[in-house]
Amino acid sequence: PKYVYSWGDGKADGNSTMKNLLGGKGANLAEMSRIGLPVPAGFTVTTEVCTYFYDNGRKYPKELQAQIEEGIAKMEKSMGTKFGDASGFPLLVAVRSGARDSMPGMMDTILNLGLNDETVVALEKATNNPRFAWDCYRRFIQMYGDVVLGVQKRPNEDHEPFEMVIEHAKAELLGDADAEDTAFSAEQLQEVIARFKKLVKERTGKDFPTSPWEQLQGAIGAVFGSWMNDRAIVYRRKYNIPAEWGTAVNVQAMVFGNTGEESGSGVAFTRDPATGEKVFYGEFLMNAQGEDVVAGVRTPDPVALLAKKQPSSLKELERIRKVLESHFKDMQDFEFTIQEGKVYMLQTRNGKRTGVAAVRIACEMVKEKLIDWKTAVNRVPADQLEQVLAPIFDAKAAKAAKQIAVGLPAGPGAASGKIYFNADRAAEAAAKGQKVLLVRVETSPEDLRGMIAAEGILTARGGVSSHAALVARQMGKVCVCGAAALQVDYDARTLSVGKAQWKEGDFLSIDGTSGAVFSGEVPTAPSEVIQGLIKGNKKAQKSGTYKNFVQLMDWCKKVTKLQVRTNADTPEQTEQAIAFGAVGIGLTRTEHMFFEGDRIDAMREMILARNTEAREAALAKLLPFQRKDFFGIFKALKGFPATIRFLDPPLHEFLPHTKEQQLDLAHKLNIPVEDIMSRVAELHEFNPMLGFRGCRLGICYPEITRMQTRAVIEAAIQAKKKGIKTKPEIMIPLIGFGKELEIQVATVHAEAKAVMKEQKTKVAYSVGTMIEVPRGALTADEVAKTAEFFSFGTNDLTQTTLGMSRDDSGSFLAPYAEAEILPRNPFASIDQNGVGQLMQVAIEKGRATRPGIKLGICGEHGGDPDSVKFCHKLGLAYVSCSPYRVPVARLAAAQAAV
Ligand code: ADP
Ligand code: MG
Ligand code: MG
Repeated sequence: PKYVYSWGDGKADGNSTMKNLLGGKGANLAEMSRIGLPVPAGFTVTTEVCTYFYDNGRKYPKELQAQIEEGIAKMEKSMGTKFGDASGFPLLVAVRSGARDSMPGMMDTILNLGLNDETVVALEKATNNPRFAWDCYRRFIQMYGDVVLGVQKRPNEDHEPFEMVIEHAKAELLGDADAEDTAFSAEQLQEVIARFKKLVKERTGKDFPTSPWEQLQGAIGAVFGSWMNDRAIVYRRKYNIPAEWGTAVNVQAMVFGNTGEESGSGVAFTRDPATGEKVFYGEFLMNAQGEDVVAGVRTPDPVALLAKKQPSSLKELERIRKVLESHFKDMQDFEFTIQEGKVYMLQTRNGKRTGVAAVRIACEMVKEKLIDWKTAVNRVPADQLEQVLAPIFDAKAAKAAKQIAVGLPAGPGAASGKIYFNADRAAEAAAKGQKVLLVRVETSPEDLRGMIAAEGILTARGGVSSHAALVARQMGKVCVCGAAALQVDYDARTLSVGKAQWKEGDFLSIDGTSGAVFSGEVPTAPSEVIQGLIKGNKKAQKSGTYKNFVQLMDWCKKVTKLQVRTNADTPEQTEQAIAFGAVGIGLTRTEHMFFEGDRIDAMREMILARNTEAREAALAKLLPFQRKDFFGIFKALKGFPATIRFLDPPLHEFLPHTKEQQLDLAHKLNIPVEDIMSRVAELHEFNPMLGFRGCRLGICYPEITRMQTRAVIEAAIQAKKKGIKTKPEIMIPLIGFGKELEIQVATVHAEAKAVMKEQKTKVAYSVGTMIEVPRGALTADEVAKTAEFFSFGTNDLTQTTLGMSRDDSGSFLAPYAEAEILPRNPFASIDQNGVGQLMQVAIEKGRATRPGIKLGICGEHGGDPDSVKFCHKLGLAYVSCSPYRVPVARLAAAQAAV
């Protein structure tokens, strides 16, 4: 089989569609080569080899070596150099990882491979540039020593051992420990190299390998090995990348950005990945190899500065920028190196962008006719849409706040939190419920945990393509980077700007849209989209963010089949959701209404009642509240349907549990506290989730169902009299037996009939059920005899199907994810194989009895894009989710249909 795919000189074995086999980097290097962009020749060792490697005790297929040799031969021909050549310019190679999806900084790359004591001299002679040749060698030993030979920081060490050697050498040879690497002369670099080799020998007991072929084999093995390193595993878990995918390895001829001031390396985006604006965006460093740009060691210059330093290269890059966008039809994130005035392309991929940028770029590319609107709908990751709704700083408050520094705006939005200088402490604090900002000089992949936990990320060094910026954009975190005024002292755990100082745990605020850093906690305001949609603010409606959002939602409307409703318990929530495009309420939890104000007292009185009469008296007090709530919701709904769930939770949830609360209630109700205590004890349940709740309440105490029915129907009649249309859908929870529903439906109909007769007005309503216990799903044909609709209560259905309590699963879900038993949290994303099957059964059986039965889902899953897509496939009529997830669900529903 073919394990090696070559590219170079305007040709390639592979192309951009072969990402599964070649990885993203390899596939696009091939593609760029095909379309005539300047790409140094190379080859990809396929992901199949990675799979083979792990399936066969870290061994390679036997055909591989010959294919690699052939690949190197092709590169030699293309470059006119020879691998390991000690007499002329030697072919040096980069060995680069490349998974299907880019995993920034997660795996390892080795540059300048092929150097040894002989070839370095050959390189020196061929280029007549000693400093350059020895700089390459120095870099190579350092990278190879770290990545392949494992010469790394030990747990008791604070700094990387190679960096320590460099620092000492700087102090000793240059008299300045903070000097730049470029300050070393060739001779001094030779001294550093000698010390490096000694270090390798000390740490590994072996000499640094001199044979280029041995080096190559070691490097390829290390890249495959890095697929299973901790960082990569954590990353894959976060982004749900399966371990089976494997990584490819790319071996590519080196081009050199470190030959002098005529050379350099850079990273650029065809548009601004933070805001989406159509500007050439990126940065570069002269006299540097690529790693220098992203490592955040030196802060690079913005690409625009090339206009001064090397205008011809800027022109060439501008040309490439256009070619890339018109070919790939998407915003590209690319890496380049300039070798003595000539630009080479080293990588391109679809650029990661913030939610705000994603929306803007999608809309603008449609206007530019680069893509059509259907493509645009698919261009915005549904999950990221929420970022467009995220709060911004209140303009007045921000003006009044004390700005202490400004950095590069790298992840838009507003974030405040207590500052932490270390990822572990940040994560710990966040786990305790604190709002946290992670503050670092620069971030590295080790900080990932802290970045995930933080509201926002602030760095003192590094540019817009630094690790912090990259990861923040991807995770949708607010980020300001390279705020150079900040002095971070990790040991003292302080941050200072001039004389002012902040300690770990103090509050700072960062604005990832402007780059401003503020002292203290600055209050936030709703985003422009929210101000425009919900508050009708004219100025906000003129903003690009608002217009693009509305445009995207309009496109969604054109294709969507699955409708989106909202879970709402108040008129305000309902209004918000409708402004976001919800077409009704999929779930009103009536019990939430009982917690407001002193309603809870009447509720408690009802629960404490010892007989029907007393219970009815208490319910009569609750009736006006419920009626008012329902009326408010009907009004806010403007004729859209509302699914109203009748009382569901175990009664004891409402009872006072502390002595103090019990005394207070006894006083209010004028009964002995002992009565309350005994009733609380009576209602105690060992497993309330499976206890006296749901329809069981209404069946045992039909007066509850009657009161709630009365409230719904009276509110509907009241609305009708005011000219407001209503579509109440009464939903009985936790049905497991057809008979349960029959009993409840009879109660509802009798009471509704009575109310309409009293009021001499008729209103339409329907009665249905939640499918949320497996028995209900399995006997859906029975249930559908009386149910006019089903709504899948996937929260409970997941709990009861998996036999896992949502509130108690925290302790084992992480290990379960690690062991790949449950790749995703089943309470966040529907367990399609298990719970999904029950849904399917219920749908089939329900439809068999009642062909047109209306089907929806009201669990939290309704706002999860994957679950929404699954519901589309099942053919449900609607999903329902919290108001702020409505746009996310609408986009996901459109994406499922487009
Ligand atoms: P990552 O996936 O972490 O971005 P890369 O494989 O892209 O790793 O390599 C990191 C850096 O090394 C690149 O940014 C690039 O500048 C430099 N590099 C990679 N290949 C070459 C090459 N053939 N010649 C010169 N520099 C290279
Ligand atoms: Mg790269
Ligand atoms: Mg439920």
